[in-house]
Amino acid sequence: MTRVLVTGGAGYIGSHVVKHLAASGFAPVTLDNLYAGHRWAVTSGELIEADFGDPERMDAILGSGRFEAIIHMAAHIWVGESGKDPAKYYQNNTVGALNLFRIAARHGIRRIVFSSTAAVYGEPDLDPIPEDAPLRPINPYGASKMMAERILADVMAASGGSWMALRYFNVAGADPDGQVGEATPNNSHLVKLACMTAAGLRPRMAIFGRDYPTPDGTCIRDYVHVQDLARAHVDALRHLLDGGASMPLNCGYGHGFSVKEVLDTCRRITGVDFPIVDEPRRPGDPARLVADGRRIREVLGFEPRFDDLDTIVAHAWAWERKLAAMRGA
Ligand code: UDP
Repeated sequence: MTRVLVTGGAGYIGSHVVKHLAASGFAPVTLDNLYAGHRWAVTSGELIEADFGDPERMDAILGSGRFEAIIHMAAHIWVGESGKDPAKYYQNNTVGALNLFRIAARHGIRRIVFSSTAAVYGEPDLDPIPEDAPLRPINPYGASKMMAERILADVMAASGGSWMALRYFNVAGADPDGQVGEATPNNSHLVKLACMTAAGLRPRMAIFGRDYPTPDGTCIRDYVHVQDLARAHVDALRHLLDGGASMPLNCGYGHGFSVKEVLDTCRRITGVDFPIVDEPRRPGDPARLVADGRRIREVLGFEPRFDDLDTIVAHAWAWERKLAAMRGA
């Protein structure tokens, strides 16, 4: 069995990836400092409680010869926070990643799948956005990931390794089995917040801007089910292990929904008519971000299974109710 180190494996997306790796015949080992992850979220394999940014610890872990590949998902992920504390983002997402890639290369680890983001594109002129669109991030989060992508490409090229950078669009939903889901502290993602609001944990939802140049005036995003995204990681890893070429890949379905459409869907699926108020635009939000999703289909043969907003919201809502039950227990 191929042994894979998954940094950030106790987090929202990471926990789905670890579960899917195990179900696909890989042997995942999670490395997580539990800053935003949870012990209960690791459903398969060992959990090493460590910080990927600790070079001595990583040297010992990767020098053990246990791992054939790394899926590097651990990162700080909040756009707003990245503007307030950019150094925190560059330190972890760029400098930390550089150290990890360098140590991996030194120990002969030749396959790395890296979590990147649509935020590397900034406010693109192209719609939908292809992978070769110019990278012009408009916040430190996107810039920190763009630089890490470049470092990864250069380090792996020099060491004879290969890599994939998965550029996530808007990830939502939860494990269809209900075993894992999003429980990140201080969350600010639309579907998650709407489910928390429906569950009575927040008084209302806000729409950040109704004056965008879109049909209903609210921002459009490409919402991807976390289970499809988890599968894309396993497919990307297989591609590299089979000798496939290195490249960035958009992880999106290629069509979008407006904030208003998402909130209407959340009200309908949850059956809760939570209040919605208008607020000003959030700084740094482009009107429309939709992936050109052709390359991932061509290169990985990727076929989405949950490309349906109702299903995404239904799974997120089922998970929110399970969390409420866990809290009550
Ligand atoms: N959004 C909103 N209200 C909220 C949270 C998000 O109107 O409480 C909007 C946000 O302005 C953006 C979209 O929903 O247009 C998706 O935001 P999210 O934070 O989920 O993801 P992002 O696009 O920032 O990665």
